[in-house]
Amino acid sequence: MAVSVVPTRAKIVIIGGGVGGTSVAYHLAELGEKDVILLDRNELTSGSTFHSAGLVGQLRADPTLTLMNMHSVDLYRKLQATDTPPSWRECGSIKLASTPERMQEIRRQIGWAKTFGLDLKEISPQEAQNLFPLIDLEGVVGACYMASDGQVDPSQLAMALAAGARKQGVQIFTHTRVLEIKTTNGRVSSVVTDKGEIECEIVVNCGGMYAPQIARMVNVRVPIVPMSHQYLITENFMPADAPLLPSLRDPDNLIYFRQEVSGLLMGGYERTSKAWSADYNNIDDIPANFNNSLLAEDWDRFTDIAEASQKRVPKMSEVGIKSFINGPEGFTPDNEFCLGETSVGGFFVAAGFCAHGIAGAGGIGKVMAEWVVAGEPTMDLWHMDIKRFGSSYESPEFTLKRITENYEQYYDIHYPSEERQSARPKFMSPVYEWHAANGAVFGEKASWERVNFYSTNIGNDALRPKDWLGNHWSNAVQVEHNATRNNAGLFDESSFAKARISGARSGEFLNYVCANNVVKGVGKTTYTQALNSKAGIESDYTVTQTADNEFLIVTGTAFAVHDFGWLEKIRRELSYTDVEITNITRELACFAIMGPQSRAILQSLTDADLSHTAFPFMNSREITIAGIKVRATRLTYVGELGWEIYAPVADALALWSSIMDAGKSFGIKACGYRAIESLRLEKGYRAWAGEINSETNPYEAGLGFAVALKKENFHGKAAAIDAQMNLKRKLVAITFDDITCVPFGSEPIRIGESIVGRIKSGGQGYTIKKSIAYAYLPIAHTEIGTHVDVEFFGTWRTGVICAEPLFDPTNERIRL
Ligand SMILES: Cc1cc2nc3c(=O)[nH]c(=O)nc-3n(C[C@H](O)[C@H](O)[C@H](O)COP(=O)(O)OP(=O)(O)OC[C@H]3O[C@@H](n4cnc5c(N)ncnc54)[C@H](O)[C@@H]3O)c2cc1C
Repeated sequence: MAVSVVPTRAKIVIIGGGVGGTSVAYHLAELGEKDVILLDRNELTSGSTFHSAGLVGQLRADPTLTLMNMHSVDLYRKLQATDTPPSWRECGSIKLASTPERMQEIRRQIGWAKTFGLDLKEISPQEAQNLFPLIDLEGVVGACYMASDGQVDPSQLAMALAAGARKQGVQIFTHTRVLEIKTTNGRVSSVVTDKGEIECEIVVNCGGMYAPQIARMVNVRVPIVPMSHQYLITENFMPADAPLLPSLRDPDNLIYFRQEVSGLLMGGYERTSKAWSADYNNIDDIPANFNNSLLAEDWDRFTDIAEASQKRVPKMSEVGIKSFINGPEGFTPDNEFCLGETSVGGFFVAAGFCAHGIAGAGGIGKVMAEWVVAGEPTMDLWHMDIKRFGSSYESPEFTLKRITENYEQYYDIHYPSEERQSARPKFMSPVYEWHAANGAVFGEKASWERVNFYSTNIGNDALRPKDWLGNHWSNAVQVEHNATRNNAGLFDESSFAKARISGARSGEFLNYVCANNVVKGVGKTTYTQALNSKAGIESDYTVTQTADNEFLIVTGTAFAVHDFGWLEKIRRELSYTDVEITNITRELACFAIMGPQSRAILQSLTDADLSHTAFPFMNSREITIAGIKVRATRLTYVGELGWEIYAPVADALALWSSIMDAGKSFGIKACGYRAIESLRLEKGYRAWAGEINSETNPYEAGLGFAVALKKENFHGKAAAIDAQMNLKRKLVAITFDDITCVPFGSEPIRIGESIVGRIKSGGQGYTIKKSIAYAYLPIAHTEIGTHVDVEFFGTWRTGVICAEPLFDPTNERIRL
């Protein structure tokens, strides 16, 4: 029998002693969690951490990640003053623009850096050279400089975090390998190691590239693949007493530099990436003895990077190379971290740091510790939430294709409405072929092919937005928008995530999860949010009561795992064992017919009475359309009279064709998702992960009407009451007269001399003939008619706060 040298019980077990695990341990201890054990199968830092390049940049494409990285810098500064300093050097960083487009990106970033109080400055090429004299300025258009960025020694950072955690009571056991994780009733209950078994309530998988192997112990799939990432270190060639150079990134040439002793460290993102994998069926398996190890040098793949580095820094062709590092690092399919609680209760993951784990570690540890302690995230972490990955990521092949595409585009500029190209098509609507034959241009959401627009619709190209939004824009969208407003549009929404909730206590359960009253009788549909305990909006969907003890939930295409996972979690934790949650997304097609002619078109295909009295708004019935039995629900997401029609997949094509044929004489058009976006922005309908998320409450989002405070209880009720009483900010609609100047998110908002917020979402409103933006502003600045300045790529433009909704304020068109 093995002798147990680890404790037999702990509240929280962290697996992995890299920067991720040590930071989670440090922050848990800071929050007062002392009953914490950290395990590593080898030494601390012996995974990816020890061979990291150690650059720490703060500004990222995502506001949340920027805030997290800012926390990292604050923390590293603080740790530098302890007796285990991580060698934090605040040397600043330069980003070069070697193309005009990159300069636009830099100007945009400088804009939204202001909303964080970050010191990002535009500098001239000459100023960049003054700061980093080794660069050649050939092709450099401009640059920016951030004085508070820096470098850290990755191993020392992990050691500093471990020391801080130990000091506050965390126990760390190295050379202790986790072999098995046991669960009871859907929750983790113990961790079996080669030194004994530890009973526990929570496990945090901080296994880096090893995280998928660890997760398999509880049948959870973590879509991370180790990718080879390379850099070299030159011989020392600078005077030993020269001031430390700032870090330098030249993304157009795919390269980065930092000073290493008195030489340079140079790395980059090759266009020919390579997963570290011997066997494509087990792409994420790591050998049992792979610790403190590197991969073989792969110079062939590094040649382009090396040549680019010599052009930008000519000295690179003169100095010798001291060492060449090829280290594996865990990448995710979208270059965002993989964080959060999985489908197994108490089993968290914090891994897949995609070569920015050192910059992110401080922030990752903070948000993960808060998540573990509160049981829910304390800020909007949707872009990093493991629940963003749908079922397609169960496939190793799909996962690898996506990761490869993302790695190779790591430094590229990503424009709004850009679509991923790899691993498509995956999931298709039953009407996919019809769409393709009729000129559809598809986009992809959660692996579903969805119609963005039909290229056969030709509109006015003069409305093309200036700047980036014009890149993937189509004049077809305005045609589809206008058809829906004036006649009728038919939308294929088959990818909507759908779940059946059934069982004797299903009504009671849903009325506890949902903020609105969703038990209103068979045939009634309700729009609702599900709130977390801080009244943040965890989900936003419709619930239709289909029988006494049966309900249909319909939510966004990308939210199945997240929204249904939230339901599962509450069901498990509150022991609603008799309630069944069944994902029926693939069983039902969904078409939305919207517009003033929609009733006439549908009525020509059914005997059911579709009049306003017989079939009122927010009602749902089983009827027959064109001889096909369907569920029709009268609601709208575009602000027009209309129905969503749910039909068995087998009948979908016949149904679609019948509606299109019947609609011909009424001017019906098949329409895509881009038109929905424009229509819903005019009407002010909120989108989860757009204007609303787990960090925004219904009252500030203008959704207080959907909160049934009269209900005796629901999840988050106390916080909702508090939010209503203490409103500090509000979502406002801002319009701009020039429809071709369109904000699309994160632009800074200024009133007078003060930055008061940043844009959440934006787009074009073809009916109101303006561009539209939504933003949360402090209450004092939300008066209708207030003029606000918004910075578009370095130029300030004035918009005005308008009363909502911008279109059809009395809802006449919906209640026809
Ligand atoms: C070449 C290279 C350059 C990089 N440069 C930068 C940079 O400049 N800036 C930046 O921010 N990031 C950079 N990174 C990324 C950064 O190094 C990583 O994101 C980070 O180190 C990952 O830390 P981690 O804690 O998630 O994983 P790891 O450091 O890999 O830690 C995981 C740990 O889990 C342990 N483990 C695994 N399985 C078990 C088990 N069954 N039981 C117990 N323990 C287990 C392992 O032993 C390992 O120690 C770079 C990465 C590479 C490869």
